[in-house]
Amino acid sequence: MDEATPLPPGGENAIGVTLGLIGDEWALLVLRHAHQGVRRYADWRARLPVSDSVLAARLALLTRMGLLRREAYQERPTRHEYRLTRMGREIWPILVSIWAWEHRWVAGRDASLPRMRHRACGEPMEPALTCAACGAPVRPRDVDSRLGPSGGDGRSVPTAGTRRRSASGTGAAAAGLFPETMALVGNRWSVMLLGAAFLGAHRFGEFERMMGAPPAMVADRLRTFVGLGVLAEEPSAERADWTSYRLTDKGRAFFPVVMTGIAWGQRWFRAPEGPALVSAHRGCGAAFEPRLACDRCGGVLAEADVVVGPPEPARR
Ligand SMILES: [Zn+2]
Ligand SMILES: [Zn+2]
Repeated sequence: MDEATPLPPGGENAIGVTLGLIGDEWALLVLRHAHQGVRRYADWRARLPVSDSVLAARLALLTRMGLLRREAYQERPTRHEYRLTRMGREIWPILVSIWAWEHRWVAGRDASLPRMRHRACGEPMEPALTCAACGAPVRPRDVDSRLGPSGGDGRSVPTAGTRRRSASGTGAAAAGLFPETMALVGNRWSVMLLGAAFLGAHRFGEFERMMGAPPAMVADRLRTFVGLGVLAEEPSAERADWTSYRLTDKGRAFFPVVMTGIAWGQRWFRAPEGPALVSAHRGCGAAFEPRLACDRCGGVLAEADVVVGPPEPARR
């Protein structure tokens, strides 16, 4: 698919649709293998610990959403394969950002995930978030974000995704391969807490207001995020008996996943009212558009430049 999908007025916005997709671990895994060249049902089946019903449902979902295209590759009997569309190919910065975050921050990942290498400079690298307009590296505080015309009223919450997951049961739905990414984006309240934290919430009441959630739910999500080391508790500067929550280094490092996800979602899904989130790079003043660059040589990354695998033996 080459054109953005129009969304119905008043419904789930581009962020909600995208989070419904990213919050579905099986959909992410199917996409990851598609990006490594898998096209046929049996090849996904052989590479993933997935049941037929779950795999068939995810291929149908990704085809319906426009990320995959189903094509016959053989007649008599007719057999089909699934190819990434342009929309599906352009999701690579999100996959790469999740991969890098899990690799760097989640205990035990380092041994099981191969490293990424930059083809141009040959070095093991981590993708760095930069501004497409000026090329500067970008941290969360460098981006000024506000809700756009389709950003309010809980419309960034992935309703369809939540229904789908609760219907299939968490046990059956979880592959357990990106456990902490799923803890952050795999259910609606976590997603809203994460969004509130990046939009600058620090105190309990601010989270409560921005999430529109019951206090018990806010408290539960805050505990989970503190337990994951994504938020840290500290006494408030305003009043010693208040607690303040701030993003840790690990939490801030998730920012590229959030920004590449939002950019992809707003590129490919259009609410009639306008965007859900409007962001500007404080450094140059331009509308913020994320670009990933190699943290070693600074070169802008294209998907073909990112090589996943063991590093080459050291030269010299
Ligand atoms: Zn800039
Ligand atoms: Zn490089």
